[in-house]
Amino acid sequence: MQFDDDVALDTSQVQDARGGGIGGRVALGGGGLGIVGFLIYFVLNQLGGLPAGVPLSTGDAAPGQPVSSSDLASECRTGRDANTKPDCARVAIINSIQAYWADEFARAGSTYREADTTFFRGAVNTGCGSATADVGPFYCPADQGVYVDLTFFDELKTRFGAQGGTFAEAYVLAHEYGHHVQNLLGTSDRVGRGTGPTSGSVRLELQADCYAGVWANHATTTPSASGKPLITNITQDDINRAVDVAERIGDDFIQENLGGGQVDESQFSHGTSAQREKWFLAGVNGGQPTQCDTFGARDLG
Ligand SMILES: [Zn+2]
Repeated sequence: MQFDDDVALDTSQVQDARGGGIGGRVALGGGGLGIVGFLIYFVLNQLGGLPAGVPLSTGDAAPGQPVSSSDLASECRTGRDANTKPDCARVAIINSIQAYWADEFARAGSTYREADTTFFRGAVNTGCGSATADVGPFYCPADQGVYVDLTFFDELKTRFGAQGGTFAEAYVLAHEYGHHVQNLLGTSDRVGRGTGPTSGSVRLELQADCYAGVWANHATTTPSASGKPLITNITQDDINRAVDVAERIGDDFIQENLGGGQVDESQFSHGTSAQREKWFLAGVNGGQPTQCDTFGARDLG
C-alpha cells in the first residue's frame, strides 16, 4: 500500500505509551474491575492460549509516565513519513479508517465518534482494567479505545507464520475499529457472551472482519481532512497479506497450530479461518456495511 506524500497526518488519534513506566508498564488510569468480561470477549484472545476466566494482571501496573505522543507528532507529519516509517504508516491507517467511518456515519445521518489508539508495550491500564500484551490488540468499549502492543505484529510473523506487511497490520487495526463501530451502533450490547460456532461472539468478530474489508474497499477514495485521500494504492498483494493474517487468527487454525492440536468448536469465539477470510473479503468486494449482516446470515461460511 502507498500513502500520498503530501497529505497531512493527524497524530492526535494515537497515544504513544511505549516509552515510560517501570519494566515497560504504564498507567493510563481507569478502574481495574470487570476487565475479564470485556477483554476475553473482544480481543484476539487466543494469543498465548489464554483460557477464558483467567484473570489478567489486575491493577499492579507501576505508576507510569504521562502519555506522550510528542515523538509521533514530530516524526509523522505527512504521508511521506508513512511511506518510510512503520509507526507513521499506522497513524495514517488509523486516520484513514476513522475518516471513512465518519463519512459513512454522516451518510447515514449519524455522527461518528473518534476513538484513539494507544500503542503500549508490556501492559496497559484501560477503562476496562489492566491488560498485558498477551491478549493481543483489543478494543475497550468502556473508554472507547483501541490498544495495541506493536510487538503483536512481529508475533504474527514469528509465531503465526504470517507474511506480515503494512496492510496486514491495517487489517488488524481496521478490525479493532470495527468493534468501535459496533459499540457506537449498539450491536455489541445486544450480543451474548457465549462461545461456539454460531455464537454471538463469532458473529460479532466476523462482522468486525467484514467492516475492516469495507474500509479497505473505500480506503483509496476516502478523503482526509485536506480533501485528498491519504492512501493512494492498495494492491492485490496487500489484500492477500490481510487474508493471510485472517486465516492465521481463525479459531481452528489457532487451536490446531498454537493450542492443543484439537479443534473444539464449542470454544470458538472469532470464527474459523475460512469464515474470517470470507467475511473480510465480503467487505472488500461489497464495500457496504449492510453486507456485513453476520447476525442475519444463516450460513456463516
Ligand atoms: Zn475482534
